[in-house]
Amino acid sequence: MNATSLLDHVRSYFDDAADLIGLDPGYRQVLFYPERVLAVNIPAKVGGTLQVLRGYRVQHSSVRGPYKGGIRYHPAVEVDEITALAALMTWKCSLLNLPYGGAKGGVACDPALMSLAELELLTRRYVRMLMPNLGPLVDIPAPDVNTNERIMAWIVDEASVLAGYNVPSIVTGKPLTLGGSLGRREATGYGAASLALAALQLLGRDARDTTVAIQGFGKVGSWAARRLAEAGCKVVAVSDVSGGKYRALGLPVAQLAEFTAGPPEQFLHGCRVPGAEDLSNRDLLELDVDVLVPAAMENQITAEVAQNVKAALVVEGANGPTVPAADTILANKGCVVLPDILVNAGGVVVSYFEWVQNLQAISWSLAEIQQRLENVLVNGLHAVWEATQDLGITPRQAAYVLAIRRVDEVLKLRHDPH
Ligand code: NAD
Repeated sequence: MNATSLLDHVRSYFDDAADLIGLDPGYRQVLFYPERVLAVNIPAKVGGTLQVLRGYRVQHSSVRGPYKGGIRYHPAVEVDEITALAALMTWKCSLLNLPYGGAKGGVACDPALMSLAELELLTRRYVRMLMPNLGPLVDIPAPDVNTNERIMAWIVDEASVLAGYNVPSIVTGKPLTLGGSLGRREATGYGAASLALAALQLLGRDARDTTVAIQGFGKVGSWAARRLAEAGCKVVAVSDVSGGKYRALGLPVAQLAEFTAGPPEQFLHGCRVPGAEDLSNRDLLELDVDVLVPAAMENQITAEVAQNVKAALVVEGANGPTVPAADTILANKGCVVLPDILVNAGGVVVSYFEWVQNLQAISWSLAEIQQRLENVLVNGLHAVWEATQDLGITPRQAAYVLAIRRVDEVLKLRHDPH
């Protein structure tokens, strides 16, 4: 196993918290390994040429409810990464007390090289090969990196054809007219921003005197940028895979988000912003800002980068952006790191709302959804903050302690003979 893999990192955070709570060795093993690992070889056309693409669905834990987790399409997808992301989903759902376990799926492919028709065929075949291991009470996927509402709609259709009846609740993050929920599209980014604002308040900082840099300008980063700018923060830097933009006076984030959302999808590199300079993704992480939001991919804040991070607050929009060695360096510097399993949980919280609405065939208003989301996340932050103070540990350790304890309680009820 690669010494710096995301799986190593997630397992080291788990071990650390399991030590802190003195987790029973048997239950520790149960929660260390995924319950099920599905690997499929999918024949699919990429740019007109037939290839075999590796696909996965890793189901980490069903102790607290059906498996839940996104599907990503990315060339770097491999089984250890998906296993790590599945475990993160278990801890995230437990921390926020959602009645789900954790799972994750992915296909190693580059969607930029594929036509829409090829993507659709790939998605349908992936679903067929995973059945009957997906289902509204079994395992409920959602969008992640490079997957979106349209792909979720194909999954609903394929699963409905196979079932012989309509099963919209088999995925979340669907288009509104197919049973999607108001507020789902922006939930993860808005949630991350709400938590950043609530943490600034706890730290006694005024959002209007705060500068922010955001790495990743997709579904998470772009909505977080908009919400933070609306709250008065100065978003001075954003980036995507093509590089970043910096402007000391603040960037026009709504305009940039419209540009990148397309259609067709475009990258920041091609956008002209008067007075803005180009900067690299690495430089963005090391900028002299108050708040840093990594919202792109894992393993971005390495130990080397952490030495140069100047932000007082790091808000992990992405899954696994900080490696453990960097986490220690940041903690020693007094930098507060709000962990991924709390920060980006807004997506799965509104996914849960979507699933509940589907199962009851009702729909909630946007105001109701946003209010419920805000309550769940801010309560989660306060619980983590309290445990951080009480136990003298970092917010990440506190989040894992709370999450593992809750799963452990259910495990004991389900497995202990007395
Ligand atoms: P996305 O595909 O919509 O956006 C990803 C962004 O990151 C894009 O701007 C892309 O250009 C950029 N990017 C990709 N590789 C990069 C690199 N090497 N350096 C810099 N930028 C890079 O994906 P997303 O849904 O916004 O997901 C981002 C992160 O948030 C992932 O870690 C994902 O697992 C996590 N997450 C997403 C959701 C959700 O609801 N979408 C929920 C929880 C967690």
